[in-house]
Amino acid sequence: MENERPAYSQLVTTALNLSEQKQAILSSIITASDDAIISKTLQGVITSWNPAAVKMFDYAETEAVGQHISLIIPKDRIEEETFIIGEIERGNRVDHFETIRVSKNGKMVPISVTVSPILDSMGKIIGASKIARDISERLIAQEENARLYEQVRLLNEKKDEFIGLASHELKTPLTSIHGYLQILSRMVKDERSQGFLEKARQQVKRVNALISDLLDVSKIEAGKLQLNSERFDILKLAADVIEMLAHNNKKFTITLKSSVKEAFTTADPHRIEQVIINLLTNAIRYADGNPQITVHLDLKDDGVFIGVEDSGIGIPSDKLEDIFSKFFRVNNHSPGISGLGIGLYLSQEIILRHNGLIWVESEIGKGSTFWFKLPN
Ligand code: ADP
Repeated sequence: MENERPAYSQLVTTALNLSEQKQAILSSIITASDDAIISKTLQGVITSWNPAAVKMFDYAETEAVGQHISLIIPKDRIEEETFIIGEIERGNRVDHFETIRVSKNGKMVPISVTVSPILDSMGKIIGASKIARDISERLIAQEENARLYEQVRLLNEKKDEFIGLASHELKTPLTSIHGYLQILSRMVKDERSQGFLEKARQQVKRVNALISDLLDVSKIEAGKLQLNSERFDILKLAADVIEMLAHNNKKFTITLKSSVKEAFTTADPHRIEQVIINLLTNAIRYADGNPQITVHLDLKDDGVFIGVEDSGIGIPSDKLEDIFSKFFRVNNHSPGISGLGIGLYLSQEIILRHNGLIWVESEIGKGSTFWFKLPN
């Protein structure tokens, strides 16, 4: 028996030591924390106040402990305490509640607070522990982000407005240049000068087309792209576009392969013509000397499919996703071929507005096929 006593008391001492050690660890964590850690009774009386709470709210531990928690609650937020205590009494935690508290010198401190019940050894709720994080810097960063976002949005709006206005301003003198060139062409008789005039007319046409594309971009951005849909034969439209482009690009052979004799569809014929012209001119521009171009037309249950196939330079696979983005061009891909990178963007917008789809299949060095589908 005598032997058992020291062993029992040793056990108790070890248990006490362990619990003291645990207390010491917890206490140093609380002391070192950057978050304010506060405990209070269910009546709201502060029972502990760590150094981070001193730093955050400017009250010394001796000034805060024993006071009611309303010490740091702004008057217009006092009912928050009733809500928090209500939750605690029901055994619930209040997680990441964002609010404002007031420091001793009247400074408003935005915090994110988590409040949990404190239980006694019998499991009864006797108070609440509160961990508060100062979120002023986060809020300042959020406000700064929102301000920058708004600034970019306004600049973007201004840019679109500017593109719209500038395009109109550019179109007017261009129309008169075109008119004067026509007058000159009637006056000039020799062939060489006629040749120069024709070249000048072609350049005016190119600038005109670029300006029209820019105008369309600004219409899309402003949500003002109008569609005038009607029922028409898209096979005939494709054949007409091919004829016109083949006439102006005699080195190319453009073949139309269709599984049907006619393909009536409801869409805006001018906009669809614009898409086919865009795809075909790209096939010509990026042909890399391969003159064979094929336009495929297929009529299926879910709509009409049109594909423009070339045997040109192709598109790198990592660029396929971006190819329809506004102002996107494949870098160093086609030196000497100028463009603004808006033709495919416009084509995609037009097709999507018709509830259709547009996509590309391509292999670098082998060629590309641009497909679009319009619903029946
Ligand atoms: P642009 O041709 O005026 O630059 P697009 O929007 O029509 O603008 O085309 C975007 C880019 O996609 C082009 O710059 C080119 O790099 C690539 N691309 C378009 N069509 C083809 C094609 N048929 N073959 C190879 N690359 C193409």
